Amino acid sequence: MQHSFFIYNTLTRQKELFKPLVPGRVGMYVCGPTVYGDPHLGHARPSITFDILFRYLKHMGYKVRYVRNITDVGHLEHDADEGEDKIAKKARLEQLEPMEVAEYYTLRYHQAMEALNVLPPSIEPHATGHIIEQIELVKEILNNGYAYVSEGSVYFDVEKYNQKYRYGKLSNRNLEDVINNSRTLDGQDEKHNQVDFALWKKAQPQHIMRWPSPWSDGFPGWHTECTAMGRKYLGSHFDIHGGGMDLVFPHHECEIAQSVASQGSDMVHYWMHNNMITINGQKMGKSLGNFITLEQFFTGNHEKLTEAYSPMTIRFFILQAHYRSTVDFSNEALQASRKGLERLLDALKQLERVQPQVQGQLTADYAKELQTKCYEAMDDDLNTPIVISHLFEACHVVNQLTDRKNSITQEGLEALRQVMETFTFEILGLRAEQGGSGQREEAYGRAIDLLLDIRQQAKANKDWTTSDRIRNELAAMGFEVKDTKDGATWKLNK
Ligand code: ZN
Repeated sequence: MQHSFFIYNTLTRQKELFKPLVPGRVGMYVCGPTVYGDPHLGHARPSITFDILFRYLKHMGYKVRYVRNITDVGHLEHDADEGEDKIAKKARLEQLEPMEVAEYYTLRYHQAMEALNVLPPSIEPHATGHIIEQIELVKEILNNGYAYVSEGSVYFDVEKYNQKYRYGKLSNRNLEDVINNSRTLDGQDEKHNQVDFALWKKAQPQHIMRWPSPWSDGFPGWHTECTAMGRKYLGSHFDIHGGGMDLVFPHHECEIAQSVASQGSDMVHYWMHNNMITINGQKMGKSLGNFITLEQFFTGNHEKLTEAYSPMTIRFFILQAHYRSTVDFSNEALQASRKGLERLLDALKQLERVQPQVQGQLTADYAKELQTKCYEAMDDDLNTPIVISHLFEACHVVNQLTDRKNSITQEGLEALRQVMETFTFEILGLRAEQGGSGQREEAYGRAIDLLLDIRQQAKANKDWTTSDRIRNELAAMGFEVKDTKDGATWKLNK
């Protein structure tokens, strides 16, 4: 199928028809985590959003190179550009090597992503592994006259850049606004202008993460890694750069400035950003007591949580909102998502029990129509909530089929199963959880089927005591058994 895939480009502020720079191939770069703490909800949303993009591009037949970095140096505490390095601080507090901190939390991040069924990227470069490339980038910007050395550090000259190019085009601000909104911080006397940002920082004597450079023993500024690594692995022009909306300014704005100042043009064709997550309407933050890690969600071990929520419930919840809308987490909303996911996975299980009919009312046309509607939603800037609503309509049809209120042909049944499975598992990346509801329900479903077979046999033998006992005791457990002309159907009343 030929797709007209539209994505919203933050830079042009409109939906654009996606056209890769090289036919058949897509290069995408997404800003990954700074690895100094346990992964939390704020990590789940971008990783799931761009996992959907990655999956869908591959589904459409593109060869995709997906680069998602690990920030393990250079992300400082204040405005990302001042104060102590976040990883070095954690290492100091826990008396560890910074790389022990980075390694530990990278592993924790990978475990959480695996649980959320987020596919690993094609390349996962670490900032500390690309110091040489970052130094080269800084040299180019210096040679082109858009940076200056001050006290062993190198700063980007925003004002000079803005005279020729526009600083602020991604976040839609002008330099004057940026100047008026920037705070004066310690160490800024080194900068010619408070809006200038660090490309290279000279390390203070107590700073343990340091590398030699032409300017000082120091470390790269936070924004340089993504420009240097994006270019190394995807080339000087590539298709998509993504991340959370909180990265638009200053991080991605600075990335654009670095690219243009070094090579004369922006590297990125489409900039994509996911919106943020709030908890009970509030921003997530350690000081607000609503900072919940993914592991706490999975175990339910947090005072704000009334129960544990499985990784697939979290994934389904995130996909029930469009990625550019805000998402508000609450126990009620998560419980609704858990039920919705169960309904979808149950319907897929039920499909296996549906008996096709030669004269079935539904044919493969029904599945084709469902597929077209789901593709239209995905092609409209990855509209996963609409895809889910179409799948829910299909669940309703599946229930009619199991209740024998509707019928379907063999071909129609196979096509329906194929469409529902493709969207649920391959494109939305949902899965039945191990040891979770999926596997257990499958096993008990088979046990109920077996009991009903025994009951049919008992009825055939006019053994009413056994057949009544099975029906009555199943009813007492909450199972509703319905006799039809072709046997019995059951469902669990919840
Ligand atoms: Zn980045």
